[in-house]
Amino acid sequence: MIRDWRKQEDQLQKADKSKHTFRGNAAKWPQLDVAMKEWITNHRNNGFTVSTKMIIYEAKRIAVEKEHELTQGWPVDAQVSLEDMAWNLNDHCYSLICRCGGKYTVSQKEAEEVSLVCCDTCSLLIEILR
Ligand SMILES: [Zn+2]
Repeated sequence: MIRDWRKQEDQLQKADKSKHTFRGNAAKWPQLDVAMKEWITNHRNNGFTVSTKMIIYEAKRIAVEKEHELTQGWPVDAQVSLEDMAWNLNDHCYSLICRCGGKYTVSQKEAEEVSLVCCDTCSLLIEILR
């Protein structure tokens, strides 16, 4: 999840050179860190054993939550489901035409893991709903 985020971030930064839409991103990692520490401490205080598996699961859940919060500040053009996108058999990816005339493309594997896709031409994003 974290790796995917990083990947997305790279794409976003490439997509928008002005950077001003990424304000607040710096706080993203500490936020997750603090939330995780709280969660682990709470569980331990309540006498629960916290396994690595549980931590990963919880980190993912929080990451999804935070990602959702963060999208508020991003230029999300539309929320679409994969069914709204065109399936490209040759490239094994979903695509959607942006209002600028560019294209949003996401591979089948990416579609399972990421929720934000950026246009290949402008700085707009779409959010894939599951
Ligand atoms: Zn576009």
